[in-house]
Amino acid sequence: MYKSLSRTYRSHILSITKLSLLMIVIVGSSYAIFNAVKLDNLSKSIVNDFKQIYSISRRFAQYYNNTNTVELEKGLYVRNGVSIMVNKDTDAKVLSVGINKLRSELELIAQDNIWTIAIFENPADYSHFSPLRKEYQERYSSYQSDDVVKRIVKLERLENTFDQFYGCNIKLSETYREDGSGQLVRTIYYPVYNERKLDALLAIDVKASFVDLVIDTFNHANFTAANTQFGIYSYQQPVEIPCTDAQPIIIGFSLWDILKPILLPAIFIAFLIHAIVVFIKSRQLRIKRDKMTGFYRRDFYEPKLKKAYDFSMLIIDIDFFKVINDTHGHKVGDEVITEVTRRISSQIRSNDVAVRWGGEEFLVLFKDMTDEMLYDKAELIRQYVAHKPISDIEVTISVGGVILRDQEFNEAYKRADHALYQSKRDGRNRVTIYEATTS
Ligand code: GH3
Ligand code: MG
Ligand code: MG
Repeated sequence: MYKSLSRTYRSHILSITKLSLLMIVIVGSSYAIFNAVKLDNLSKSIVNDFKQIYSISRRFAQYYNNTNTVELEKGLYVRNGVSIMVNKDTDAKVLSVGINKLRSELELIAQDNIWTIAIFENPADYSHFSPLRKEYQERYSSYQSDDVVKRIVKLERLENTFDQFYGCNIKLSETYREDGSGQLVRTIYYPVYNERKLDALLAIDVKASFVDLVIDTFNHANFTAANTQFGIYSYQQPVEIPCTDAQPIIIGFSLWDILKPILLPAIFIAFLIHAIVVFIKSRQLRIKRDKMTGFYRRDFYEPKLKKAYDFSMLIIDIDFFKVINDTHGHKVGDEVITEVTRRISSQIRSNDVAVRWGGEEFLVLFKDMTDEMLYDKAELIRQYVAHKPISDIEVTISVGGVILRDQEFNEAYKRADHALYQSKRDGRNRVTIYEATTS
C-alpha cells in the first residue's frame, strides 16, 4: 500500500516536472519572441524621448535671445533658486525663470533624471547653474577665460551648428562620471548662435539612469523584460541615438531575464494542467472501472458486449462466498473479492477484458483462443486463485466458459452460465468449457 502510494506520488512529481519543463520551454520561447519583437518599439521610444528633450532644449534659444540684460557686479547671485556666477562687472541676462521652466518641461519626460542645467556665456563673463553644486563653485571660481566653452565646442564639434538647418545643432555626450559628485551623466550641449557668433552654451546634464527609466516604463506598459545589463545568452539590439558620437545604447534581454518572470506562472500552469488531467482521468476511471476490483463496471461494458462477436468468455464465481461473509464478516469478504480479482488480473494480459458482473461474479473476455487454450487459461486462473489462502481462508472459484462464434452475446452468456452452473454442481473449484455451437 505504502509502496504503491509513494509510486503514484513519484509519478505525479515526474509528470508535473515534465509538464513544467515543457511549459517553461513553450511559455519561455513565446515570451522571448514577444520581447524580441517589442525591442524595436522600445528602441523607438528611447530615441523619441531623446528627440523630445532636444526639442524642448532648442526652444531655450528663443527665450535667451529675447531676454534683456541688466547690470551686474562681480559676485554670486541667486535668482529663483538659480545661481549666477558673475566674474566681472557686466551686462548680464538673468535667465533663471527660463531655466526653471526648461527644467520643469524636461522633468515631464525625464522625471528626476535632470541633474544640472548650466548656461555658459561667451565670452565667459558670467554663467548660470541650476543648481550650483559645491564642486562647480570650486571649478568655475577661476572661470575667467573662455577656455571652458571653447574646449567644449571644439571637443563636441559644435562649431557652426547654425548651418545645420535640419541637422543636429545639438549634441549628446558619451556617458561619463562627473568630477566631484561622481554622478553618472550624459550632457546635452546646445550652442546659442546669433549672427554666426556663439553667444552662449546651454549644458543639460541628464542622469545615465534616464535610459533605465524609459526602459522600466516601457517594460511596465508592455509586459516586457528588456534592460541594458545582461549576462550570458542574451539577445541584443543597438539603439542609435540621434545627434551624438557616443556608442549606441545596447538594449536586450538575457535567458534569465526571460525565465525569471515566467518560471512561476509556467510551473503553475503545469500544476493546473496536471490537476485537470488527473481529474478527467479519475472521472473517466470512475465511470469505467469498479473501485474495489479495478475491473470494468458492468453498466459501462455491457452495451459493448451486445455488439461484440468472435471472442472467448469465462464466467468466474467465488465458491461459498455467502459462508465467507457470514463467518468472517463483510469486510473480510471485500478483502477476498479484492485479492481474487488481483489474482485473476495477474493471469491475464492487459488487452483481455475483465468485468465485475455481479458481487463476486466476473466475466473475462479473450480474443483469438481455441477451446483448449481457453480451458488452459481457465485452469491457470482457478489454480492460481486457490494456490494459497486469502486472509487465512481457503478460497476457490468455479469457472464456466464458451467461445462465441457468430452468436449473440446473450446466447453465449446463457451457455457460459450453464457451464458455470455445471462446475458448481460438479463440486465447485473447477472449470467447465462448453464448445461453441452455432445456433
Ligand atoms: P456459490 O458457491 O454457489 O456461488 O455460493 P455463494 O455463497 O458464493 O453464492 P452466491 O454466488 O449467490 O453469493 C453471492 C453473495 O456475495 C451474496 C452477497 O451477499 C455477496 N456479495 C455480493 N457483493 C459483495 C461485496 O461487494 N462484498 C461482500 N463482502 N459480499 C458481497
Ligand atoms: Mg458464489
Ligand atoms: Mg455469485
